[in-house]
Amino acid sequence: MALIVQKYGGTSVANTDRIKNVAQRVASYHAKGDQVIVVVSAMGGVTDRLIGLANEIMPIPTDREMDMLLATGEQTTIALTAMALHTLNVSAVSLTGAQAGIVTDGVHTKAKIRNITPSQVHSMLDAGNVVIVAGFQGQTTEGNITTLGRGGSDLTAIAIASAVKADLCQIYTDVDGVYTTDPRLVSTAKKLDEISYDEMLELASSGAKVMQSRSVEFAKKFGVPFEVRSSLNQNPGTLVKEETANMENVVVRGVSLDKNQAKVTLVGVPDRPGVAAKIFKALSDAAVNVDMIVQNVGHGSNPTTDLSFTVERTDLAKSQQVIAALNSEIGFTEVVSQEEMGKLSVVGVGMKSHSGIAAKLFDVLSAQNVNIDMISTSEIKISVVVALTQAEDALKAAHDAFIA
Ligand code: ADP
Ligand code: ASP
Ligand code: MG
Repeated sequence: MALIVQKYGGTSVANTDRIKNVAQRVASYHAKGDQVIVVVSAMGGVTDRLIGLANEIMPIPTDREMDMLLATGEQTTIALTAMALHTLNVSAVSLTGAQAGIVTDGVHTKAKIRNITPSQVHSMLDAGNVVIVAGFQGQTTEGNITTLGRGGSDLTAIAIASAVKADLCQIYTDVDGVYTTDPRLVSTAKKLDEISYDEMLELASSGAKVMQSRSVEFAKKFGVPFEVRSSLNQNPGTLVKEETANMENVVVRGVSLDKNQAKVTLVGVPDRPGVAAKIFKALSDAAVNVDMIVQNVGHGSNPTTDLSFTVERTDLAKSQQVIAALNSEIGFTEVVSQEEMGKLSVVGVGMKSHSGIAAKLFDVLSAQNVNIDMISTSEIKISVVVALTQAEDALKAAHDAFIA
C-alpha cells in the first residue's frame, strides 16, 4: 500500500467527462489499496474567465477580493470530483486549501506557503476516503483566503506530498511529460525520461508552463521527486529528480519560450547611488517580480542613464503605476514600455562543463535576423529577450540547432 498524491490540471478536469475519467483513474489506485490524495485545478479556462470578470469591473482588482474570486474555481472542481468518485462507490471527501491545513503569508494572488498541518487529510484518509484538495489556494493565519500564483496547483500537490511524506507524487497534465520544448510550438520536441530539479526549475521559470516554477523550487528544497505524465493515456512520463552524474553529458536539455514578458525603460535616470535601490524596492513592495535588469553607462557631467527591466505582462500596469509615482522623487525624463516581448532560454546542466553555447545561440538568432534586446545567463541557462513577433521562429531555430 502506497500513499500517493495525484494532481490533475485544468485540461484534465475541463468538463464532466474528463472529471469522470479522472475519477476512474483515482478509483483504480484506491482499489489496489493505495491511499490517494487528489489535488485538482479549476476547470480549464475558468481562472482566466474569473480574471476577465474582475477586470471588467476594475483594471487592477483589489487583491483580497481577487483571491476570494479565484478560489471558487478550484472549489467547484473538488466537489464535482468527489461526486464522480461517489458514483463509482468510492468514499471521497473534498477539502478547501484551508481545510487541508495550508497556511500562507498574506501576499494575495502570489502567497507563499508557510506551513501545512494536514491533520484533517490524515484522518479522512485513515477513515478510508480518497481526499480531494483544492489546488492553488490557502489561508492566512487571520483566516483570509489566498492563492499561490498562476499554475499554483502544482505547488499545492508538491507541498502536500512533502507534508504527508507521500511515496509518490504524480502531476497529471495534457501532454505525456516534460519535452525538450513545448510540443505545441515545436513538432520535433522530444519527451524526456528524466530531468534534474535545476533544469526543470530553469525551464519552468523561463516559460515552460508544464510546471509552476515555485513548485519545482519547493520540490528541490524538500527533496520531493515527482513524475509528470498524461491524464489522457497510460504512457510513462518524465521523472523530475536530483541531478545524477550522467546528466551532465547532455549539454542542452531543453529550450523554452516565455511569451508573457514586457519591458519597461526609464530614460534619463540620474546616475547616482541609491536610485536603483529606490526603484526596485518600490516594485518589490508592490509584489512585482522583476526578471532581467539592464543599465547603460552614465554620460555627461551630470550623468544620467537608461535603465530597462522586464516583468510579466500582467504586472506591467502595476509597474507603470509604481514607476510614475516615483518620478517626483527621482526625476527621470520618460518611461517607455514595450508590451509584447518574449524570452527564449536554452537550459542544460551540461553547460557547466561545456563552452560556446552562447556564441552558438547568438549565431542561430542572427541567421534568423532576430534582434536580441537583452541577455542574461546563469550557470546552466542562457536567456535572451526578443520581440514577440519573432519569438516562435527563434524558438524553433534554437531547438533545431541544439536538440533536433
Ligand atoms: P495543467 O493545466 O495540467 O497544469 P498546463 O497547461 O499548465 O497544464 O501545462 C501543460 C502545457 O505546458 C502543455 O500543454 C504544453 O503546451 C506546455 N509546455 C510548455 N513547455 C513544455 C515542455 N517543455 N514540455 C511539456 N509541456 C510544455
Ligand atoms: N487554476 C489556477 C490557474 O489557472 C491554478 C492552476 O491551474 O494550477 O492558474
Ligand atoms: Mg499548470
